[in-house]
Amino acid sequence: MSHETQIKGERTFFIIKPDAVQRGLVGEITKRFERIGLKLVAVKTAVATPEHVEAHYTLDPEWKRITGEKTIAGYKKKGMTPPSEDPLEITDAVLKGLKVYMTSGPIVCMVWEGPHAVKIVRKIVGGTEPLTSDVGTIRGDYVIDSYQMADADNRAVRNLVHASGSVKEAENEIKHWFKPEEIIDYKLIQEQVMYAPEIEGVFGK
Ligand code: ADP
Ligand code: MG
Repeated sequence: MSHETQIKGERTFFIIKPDAVQRGLVGEITKRFERIGLKLVAVKTAVATPEHVEAHYTLDPEWKRITGEKTIAGYKKKGMTPPSEDPLEITDAVLKGLKVYMTSGPIVCMVWEGPHAVKIVRKIVGGTEPLTSDVGTIRGDYVIDSYQMADADNRAVRNLVHASGSVKEAENEIKHWFKPEEIIDYKLIQEQVMYAPEIEGVFGK
């Protein structure tokens, strides 16, 4: 596969979490990826088990450390004291909360394909903590929550969606949630308009 094809065919894994399904946001959220020109290549509803959720979040052995450090930095940036200085202690508690949150109702799992799909979807999703995620993003527009609120109640931050953080993470997550035959390879007519090297105008080439 050429470098070009690889970029155009990049895939990312996405979950509409139980709170977003309950709040009737499936359409609103999906619309944002459709309108930017990404291609939906797999979709299904599911009710996840706690084991599947734990395995999902620990596919990357570094996730525990990184997420703990991100939380500590989030507190410090606001001039607040984090619940612990140990990133792993923080993430152990987060993982417990995530298993409850992510299994609390149906979710919608998706695979989106297109150039730079991983980064584009993360940009549209916004930062992890709704309090500080940008206006205009999914997490910035449709929900209010913070590390402080979640940690005080020993629960996961309710931020509506999951999106892969890197191409490697996406590959692992897609395999974890979908069988190869559930992912459909097809062309969208708009790909021609968006990326074809040559444009054929009304008067021909
Ligand atoms: P993201 O979903 O933005 O990739 P992470 O991978 O760091 O974020 O964390 C996974 C999920 O765990 C978050 O989406 C959120 O629901 C939850 N979470 C992360 N950090 C905390 C925290 N400090 N307290 C409660 N929940 C958290
Ligand atoms: Mg993540």
